[in-house]
Amino acid sequence: MRHADVNALSELSGAGWDVCIIGSGPAGVAVAAELSGNGLRIVLLESGGHVRQDFADALDEVENVGWPRVEDQWLVRNRIVGGTSHTWSGRCVPFDAIDYEARSWVPESGWPVTAEEVRPYLDRAAPYLGISRGTGYNDEGFWKIVQRQRPVPMFDESRLRSYYWAFSRDPDNAREHMRLGNHLPRWAGDDVMLVTNATVCRIAANDDATLADAVEIAAPDGTRFRLGARFIVLCAGGIETPRLLLCSNTTLPAGLGNARGQVGRYLMDHLRGPVASFPLAGTKNLRRQFGHYRIAGGQVFVHGMQMSETMQRDETLMNTTAWLEGRITPDDPYNALKRWARLKPELPGDALSVLRNLGLLTSGARDYFVARNGLPRKIERLNLVAMCEQLPDAESRVTLSDQRDRLGLPRARIDWRVHEQEERSLRRITQLVTEEFSRLGLPVPIADDWIRDDAPLPQDFRDVAHPTGTTRMGRDPARAVVDENCLVHGMRNLYIAGSAVFPTSSHANPTQMVVALAIRLADELKRAAHRNMNICTDIHASV
Ligand SMILES: Cc1cc2nc3c(=O)[nH]c(=O)nc-3n(C[C@H](O)[C@H](O)[C@H](O)COP(=O)(O)OP(=O)(O)OC[C@H]3O[C@@H](n4cnc5c(N)ncnc54)[C@H](O)[C@@H]3O)c2cc1C
Repeated sequence: MRHADVNALSELSGAGWDVCIIGSGPAGVAVAAELSGNGLRIVLLESGGHVRQDFADALDEVENVGWPRVEDQWLVRNRIVGGTSHTWSGRCVPFDAIDYEARSWVPESGWPVTAEEVRPYLDRAAPYLGISRGTGYNDEGFWKIVQRQRPVPMFDESRLRSYYWAFSRDPDNAREHMRLGNHLPRWAGDDVMLVTNATVCRIAANDDATLADAVEIAAPDGTRFRLGARFIVLCAGGIETPRLLLCSNTTLPAGLGNARGQVGRYLMDHLRGPVASFPLAGTKNLRRQFGHYRIAGGQVFVHGMQMSETMQRDETLMNTTAWLEGRITPDDPYNALKRWARLKPELPGDALSVLRNLGLLTSGARDYFVARNGLPRKIERLNLVAMCEQLPDAESRVTLSDQRDRLGLPRARIDWRVHEQEERSLRRITQLVTEEFSRLGLPVPIADDWIRDDAPLPQDFRDVAHPTGTTRMGRDPARAVVDENCLVHGMRNLYIAGSAVFPTSSHANPTQMVVALAIRLADELKRAAHRNMNICTDIHASV
């Protein structure tokens, strides 16, 4: 991979690029890496640099006019090489079969691609995410993979089922999740040019807005550049992607791809938070059963629960999962040892934490090395945490604000909505876990006050860094922004990768699907690039 700063664009902009990728998060990295080695000239434009910068952070600020959201945008999106994988938590899981379905109780649901079509891409996503397998572990097979006996008796599966997530692990640094920007130089050859500090401000199009013919780029000092490419792939994340299309309003006043007013609509995230807690005494075995499982090679999984499909269908609920999460005490001995390993112990506190918790350390070592479980941390609270899918709602949306950022671009105005069906799903899974644990003789959680008192969803359920659906995929241009190949409806060469294209959000953390669809898009682009050489002539004539 080659690398240049934005100011080199004065020489690079006329280089005859085949593909211009906007954004170097997991989506942009996967597209670049997959296209590399196919005889294409690829430029990857990234607004951030290799380290965090105040200037870049400020470009992400938003105006919020809807349900309360996290204010500090760095906590939910990272403008830096590698995008938000810079701080992600690495939890991976494929979508479930029901997520692709058109469900009568979820208006506007239904994907234009099937689970079978997406499955090979979920598998191909695994190496990018540092997981040993992309699919095939979320059923009975899990216990074979982790070489453990399935605990019996288990849930009544017409109500609740076991569910498993895989955790990302950087093969070069087992303590880290994959930060995809770090691996880009290994995955991409010299046919990929990464340009940092290059913020795309606008995508320009021909007169009938069928061809994106150039991107306009701003350097941090405001200097502007223009760059043309045969194909443009927008990978700027679930908020910036619609913002950039809406800002690209020279040819179409409503914004590029927005002739039918769909860009920015259907904003979803996940509602995730504690719904109950367990009295701590007597939960050791429970924590082991619903804890971490390590396999040879270091892959870690976690065991939780999912509301059954039957419950979702019978009670018109959203796809929802739950798992156990401990709140670690300040004197946890493993944190103390970690600081020691980094040669940064906090003394004398860390020494005392280790000495006072020798029992936990010895039993923990046995659990970790012999039983291959997770580390039994010292916790002060054990929560049941739930995460639920959101309804696609056209009124939940990103538009442009009257406020402007330092480059003079309108900020994103976010009107994010939450719905009764989601609140009901969180309540129901809490009840199901309570009833099933009680039936199985397991420790029973105590529901949080808002659930017990039938009070409204607390406003501290904020967005969890999974902005989704804002340029949704669908065959009907009147109700979707991109088609099933992620090509913007009505355009010949502008594609989108990222969670913005998901028509529905599942309960699943989005990044594995983001990378899977990005790989699928790269395959499509390889075909399109070789099929459609004439786009090259059109573009280079117009730049
Ligand atoms: C704390 C945290 C924990 C998370 N944990 C998980 C998890 O456990 N599992 C999971 O699946 N997901 C998790 N996520 C979400 C995950 O990080 C995102 O799903 C993923 O990064 C999305 O990839 P992306 O490439 O679509 O977008 P991003 O990673 O957001 O990348 C977008 C890129 O585009 C660049 N960009 C934006 N605008 C422009 C512009 N105008 N010009 C040029 N470049 C631009 C940005 O700088 C950025 O590099 C977490 C996120 C956070 C913040």
